[in-house]
Amino acid sequence: MKSEQPFAQQYADHVNPQWVRLLDLLEMNVAYRHCLGVELTTVDGRRILDFLSGYCVYNMGHNHPAIIAALKAELDSNGPSMLQNHVPQLAGVLAERLCRLAGGRLARVAFGSSGSEGVEAAIKFSRMHTGRTGMLYCDGAFHGLTCGALSLMGGSFWSDGFGPMLPDTTAIPFNDLAALDKKLATKKFAAFIVEPIQSEAGIVLPANDYLREAERLCRRSGTLLVLDEVQTGMYRTGPFLAAHHYGVEPDMVVMAKALSGGLVPVGALLMTEKVCDSVFKSLKSAMIHTSTFSENSLAMRAALASLDVMAGEKLGERGTAMGRELRDKLQAALSGYEMFQEVRGIGMMSGIKFRAPRSLKLKVAFETFKAIHPGMFGQMLVLRLFRDKGFITQICGNDFMVLKASPPLVATTEHIDGFVAAIKDIVDSVHTSDQAWSEAIGMARRTMNI
Ligand code: PMP
Repeated sequence: MKSEQPFAQQYADHVNPQWVRLLDLLEMNVAYRHCLGVELTTVDGRRILDFLSGYCVYNMGHNHPAIIAALKAELDSNGPSMLQNHVPQLAGVLAERLCRLAGGRLARVAFGSSGSEGVEAAIKFSRMHTGRTGMLYCDGAFHGLTCGALSLMGGSFWSDGFGPMLPDTTAIPFNDLAALDKKLATKKFAAFIVEPIQSEAGIVLPANDYLREAERLCRRSGTLLVLDEVQTGMYRTGPFLAAHHYGVEPDMVVMAKALSGGLVPVGALLMTEKVCDSVFKSLKSAMIHTSTFSENSLAMRAALASLDVMAGEKLGERGTAMGRELRDKLQAALSGYEMFQEVRGIGMMSGIKFRAPRSLKLKVAFETFKAIHPGMFGQMLVLRLFRDKGFITQICGNDFMVLKASPPLVATTEHIDGFVAAIKDIVDSVHTSDQAWSEAIGMARRTMNI
């Protein structure tokens, strides 16, 4: 099948043809010319609002001019970028700053170029520190697609055919302290890794005392507590880390995504001095964990400039206020609809949870649809939000009935009002128009054919 977008053909021929087919099917295969803040412009002049932020990459908006200026200056300096034989100055500056912002006992940083790489480092470091091999994680978690990270995610969707995964990994339900306690009591686990707010599981918030109690239980059993703040970090939920909402002091924190300013990949594993010292314990181990690109000056500069922007523009506070406004307005607009369950979230991280309808008419259409693919209802919303209303959104990978709304923290009331009106219109048509369902069923059948 030839993509309708000629520019996509080369990508389909030489990178990933299935991705192009999926985008074609979802009618999201458009070319972008210009991206600034929340607003994207396509080559044919359409205005699209980004309500996904690249899964929480663009906290500061697309192409922030201050970050671009800092990167240009860095390039112009002709400095050492990936020399591998010196002390990279900016890495020290950035690490000191990250530890200060994170607070608690976090005093050292191992850099990488992605969230998954940070999770891999957390696995290695916690094993080395504790001398144990087991890893505990939560049902519904998303930690990345490298083999180690993938071993910390339940279900077979991501891992089928890539195995064997790491041994000694065990899943427990999120928000279940009794299950955690029971597993920790075996003293087999090096670390318990958890997202403070589960994102792909459906924007699931922890009970107020969950993380603090988890910390206490972990400490008692000699297991390290690792927070995956790849999505929740960098002020996405208000404070610098979501951990700060809950007064928890982890042994390690994984960060990535927005640390890059959306421009140069950066990942960071923050950890206590003790954990770090048990890895880099002698001269012989000075290079025991590193990677070529990890401390490159462009990446470090991107992160430093991103931190400047986030603090200078008080984006944590702004995101908190706008996120609350978004959820309040969504609640008011959608609360009368049968298929709307709730809107939940924290800071600028929100999920709209839908539920199966009860009334006969809707139920028949919904069940037909669901039988074709369980994610189809959510994908239909995503498609229509994009095609008809010009919004990028996504459904949660591990709960297809939750639509994510995580725009950049620079989103304005106008953006939010536009989104609320758009989703209300679509949800209304789903409840009142047969055409919405017949079109959706057509889409679902097309999926079956590709
Ligand atoms: N952890 C979480 C919570 C994530 O959302 C992701 C990516 N979506 C990762 C880890 C992996 O990050 P990356 O894609 O940068 O490897």
